[in-house]
Amino acid sequence: MIMSMSDLSSTPRTALRRHHERGRTDRDDLYAVLDSGLICHLGVIANGAPRVLPTGYGRRGDVLYLHGSSANATFMAGAGQEICVTVTHLDGVVCARSVFNHSMNYRSAMIFGVARLLTDPEERTAALRIITEHLAPGQWSYARQPSKKELAATSVLELSLAEASVKIRTGGPHDEPEDYAMDVWAGVVPVTAAFGEPEPDTDLRPGIAVPQHIRTRRG
Ligand SMILES: Cc1cc2nc3c(=O)[nH]c(=O)nc-3n(C[C@H](O)[C@H](O)[C@H](O)COP(=O)(O)OP(=O)(O)OC[C@H]3O[C@@H](n4cnc5c(N)ncnc54)[C@H](O)[C@@H]3O)c2cc1C
Repeated sequence: MIMSMSDLSSTPRTALRRHHERGRTDRDDLYAVLDSGLICHLGVIANGAPRVLPTGYGRRGDVLYLHGSSANATFMAGAGQEICVTVTHLDGVVCARSVFNHSMNYRSAMIFGVARLLTDPEERTAALRIITEHLAPGQWSYARQPSKKELAATSVLELSLAEASVKIRTGGPHDEPEDYAMDVWAGVVPVTAAFGEPEPDTDLRPGIAVPQHIRTRRG
């Protein structure tokens, strides 16, 4: 079910404390952070200890889907449990006049909730399609669809975006007033992640061109 939600929640655990002015309440900012990322970090308690697992994801409306191997104990530990998912983009290294005031420009999101393990095959397939299309748009219908065995080997967790926070830092360093007189360079070194030229598989049969939907992703 696609839910429509308004502003981002402010709950005891999503309320930002330090630099709360960097928080965003517009849900579109959450979507933008999630939609421009490719991996998330899934935080779970497994066997009584915290684990953080990098994994792929996809979004539909106010629901996030994460997938992992059914044999992955850490991933499966999230089923029916409280989890925390983060997505982070590093946009720049902020060099200040003092080492203390060095910082980073970023966009990040943190989501809390109880994860639901998708057991219905149709629901799971639909979620896998969303995850695949998020990673590589156009590939779900271009590549072979998953077999029953492949589907059984893949588990999907569903997480509502009801309880989430977004924090964004932009701009230059914030130095101490007396430090602005120093002869020390200060500024931002931008960091970007970009798609490069597609590299064909060494086992690719001759004559198969890079499809349009992959070619156009470059840059
Ligand atoms: C790339 C990157 C690098 C960072 N480097 C540092 C660093 O070196 N040192 C440092 O102190 N901080 C760093 N931060 C900021 C850090 O993530 C926290 O925002 C910060 O520690 C403030 O914590 P707090 O005590 O205010 O809140 P906490 O008590 O830690 O968090 C309260 C709530 O605020 C929300 N929240 C907090 N941080 C974020 C976030 N980043 N994104 C979305 N929601 C958030 C969550 O809902 C969280 O439950 C970095 C962030 C990013 C994205």
